[in-house]
Amino acid sequence: MGELRGRFAPSPSGRMHLGNLFSALLAWLSVRSADGVMVLRMEDLDPDRCKEEYAAQLADDLRWLGLDWDEGYEKGGPHGPYRQSERTQLYAAAFRRLEAQGLIYPCFCTRAERLAASAPHRSDGQVIYGGKCRHLTEEERNELAKTRRPAWRLTVPDRDIAFTDGLQGYYEENLLSDCGDFILRRSDGVYAYQLAVVYDDGAMEVNQVVRGRDLLDSTPRQLYLYELLGLTPPEFYHVPLLTAPDGRRLSKREKDLDMGALRQRFTPVELTGLLGYWAGQLDRPEPVLPKELAQIFDWSKVPREDIIVE
Ligand code: GLU
Repeated sequence: MGELRGRFAPSPSGRMHLGNLFSALLAWLSVRSADGVMVLRMEDLDPDRCKEEYAAQLADDLRWLGLDWDEGYEKGGPHGPYRQSERTQLYAAAFRRLEAQGLIYPCFCTRAERLAASAPHRSDGQVIYGGKCRHLTEEERNELAKTRRPAWRLTVPDRDIAFTDGLQGYYEENLLSDCGDFILRRSDGVYAYQLAVVYDDGAMEVNQVVRGRDLLDSTPRQLYLYELLGLTPPEFYHVPLLTAPDGRRLSKREKDLDMGALRQRFTPVELTGLLGYWAGQLDRPEPVLPKELAQIFDWSKVPREDIIVE
């Protein structure tokens, strides 16, 4: 591999919290310890949830900790724009490419209909789509289109997709039975995360993706899209999630662990020390600069299992 190109790709749908920062720090350490290039891309596709003020705050919170980036949001670079909301035309072209291969169909099912089909659930709680609209005739489609705007799904084959995650090891899923035909464009016209993230990481020449373990089971779907779009997939490292003592994942709802509260409670070096300790890089949580951690960073010390935060 040539130069390492990593990225942090947050969704600016609220203030960043401890869990997001943990993933961001690991992505940054991995890049900086290898003298690579760091990209910051704002995944602000969902206009109902994402706000520019959250994006600006996010960039400020990263800088406060001492995490910088070489390309991306507020900085520009050769693969811009770096806000997904400004890249719609690019996703549209990728979508048309898949459409031309006959791989996309309109799905008229409502959420209630999908749930009522008592389809099996994935570990992330999503329903595996049973393929009801895959077999509609042209006539049926035209009829349904008179009253409903469809979402658009990718037809997946009955195929196992396997890869080796840098941290979690071997992982395999069957596209049909574990994922089902998945949405590439929502009924309101917004392109789906799966399409946008693959297109962007490919176009931005990202060759290492470090992100939360909750996205491990999206990876086979994404690898399939890389293949269909003729893009080279990156290597993946899915890092542990931070959880509350009762096993719940920390989320943006936990106000006491969002960056506003954390910035009052800790100095940047104290917080980096705590995160570095959880990441297995320090024997105890002691103040440290991110760039000092980068000098000793070692993937083999990062734990695989989720980390309980008291
Ligand atoms: N934008 C996604 C999120 O904030 C992360 C996407 C990724 O890292 O692949 O959950």
